[in-house]
Amino acid sequence: MKRTLTRSILGLIMAIAFVGGLGLFTFRISTNANAWVQQNYNGHMSGSSGLEQAGIIYDRNGNILAHTVDGKRVYSDDYETRLATLHVVGDNSLNISTAVQSIYRDDLTGFNYVWGLGLPSSLKSSKDITLTIDSQACKTAYEALGDYNGAVVVYNYKTGEVLCSVSKASYDPQDPPEITEENEEEYAGVYVDRVISGLYPPGSTFKIITSAAAIENMPDIYNRTFTCNGSVNIGGQEISCMSTHGDIGFEDALAHSCNVVFAEIADELGNDIMQKTAEEMGFTKSYSVGDIPTARGEYDLLGASQNERAWSGIGQFTDLANPMQMAIMCGAIANGGDANIPFEVKTISSFFGLAGLNNTAKTESLIKSSTANQLNDLMRNNVTSYYGDDMFETLSVCAKTGTAEVGDGKEPHAWMVGYSQDTDAPLAFAVIVENSGYGYSVAGPVAVSAMEACANVLRN
Ligand SMILES: [Zn+2]
Repeated sequence: MKRTLTRSILGLIMAIAFVGGLGLFTFRISTNANAWVQQNYNGHMSGSSGLEQAGIIYDRNGNILAHTVDGKRVYSDDYETRLATLHVVGDNSLNISTAVQSIYRDDLTGFNYVWGLGLPSSLKSSKDITLTIDSQACKTAYEALGDYNGAVVVYNYKTGEVLCSVSKASYDPQDPPEITEENEEEYAGVYVDRVISGLYPPGSTFKIITSAAAIENMPDIYNRTFTCNGSVNIGGQEISCMSTHGDIGFEDALAHSCNVVFAEIADELGNDIMQKTAEEMGFTKSYSVGDIPTARGEYDLLGASQNERAWSGIGQFTDLANPMQMAIMCGAIANGGDANIPFEVKTISSFFGLAGLNNTAKTESLIKSSTANQLNDLMRNNVTSYYGDDMFETLSVCAKTGTAEVGDGKEPHAWMVGYSQDTDAPLAFAVIVENSGYGYSVAGPVAVSAMEACANVLRN
């Protein structure tokens, strides 16, 4: 009896294992079949990852960014456009995992669960994709980066459409480089879309978050007078300022980006409030840009000392920001606290004209509207009273610059993030220029070029 029971239980376990295994296999085939079929080692496939039968990728104006000619995948006719749009579009290698050709490959190739890629070509269901980006604006931003690497993103904070997204280092997808020991510095991180996946110390752009925490938790913040003597000792260590600002109020302290004032504010607010504010404003969040996940920023005050907290409030310590997330946060401020989450794929359509997708933005509330309105005034004041309102030719811009120290004797990263208030060109942006110098002088002109180019797109 006991043996029978043992056997029955054993039999049952094996049956469960079999059914479970079959279930897992079915699940994995349904989720991974496309990836398996399109691996380079699949001898049934030829050439470039199935892309030789993929549909067309257009920019917002119908300019072709990738298409298939005589069984070969080819990219924009224009060399600079190919470099400027590489990280959004992708290349044959699929090394850029967040590119449209990687993420939307099923749609582009017409991969079919029953037939795989084996449908006769007359029945192929490959689809075309129209992006929200303007390739000319991308090219302008790419050129504005000059010899530097970095990231530029501009999106419409009312609709969520990304108009410009550029990541550099880049290469020509028509003629991808072989990366060797000799050229690896030139191509450092070249397969990473810095807009989507990049993480950088935010420097003083983080003072937007410290400001929000002050607005919400220090009722007398606008009536206080701080004193900057060029440095301050917090928790036993010096925190230095770029300048000696003397007696200074909150608004001017942000415009002049005084480290002493913002280190003192972060210190006074404490770890819990600083952490909570950063998280609520989406600093540590991964967003879905359509189906493309952004890298999660880092802000971790768990167990941080008094001095570390002070550094964190001015965007140093272990703080890391993602450029797309910074643009989203600025878009939320522009929108009275609600962010319309950006997307890059406007439509997916087949030969039969059926639109598989017609995107609209999802909305997320990140900031209290009263806080957003006060941040708006502060960021506008930064431009009018400090950076200079004539910096932008046709736009009324609210912004914050940052100069993020990176150590190792390297030049700091230059940041500028913000948005325009113009109703005919509601654009939020983030610009980072790696190892280039001061935020205002280096990232500023790049932001101007990209923002004016995108405003032009919306106004024409
Ligand atoms: Zn100062």
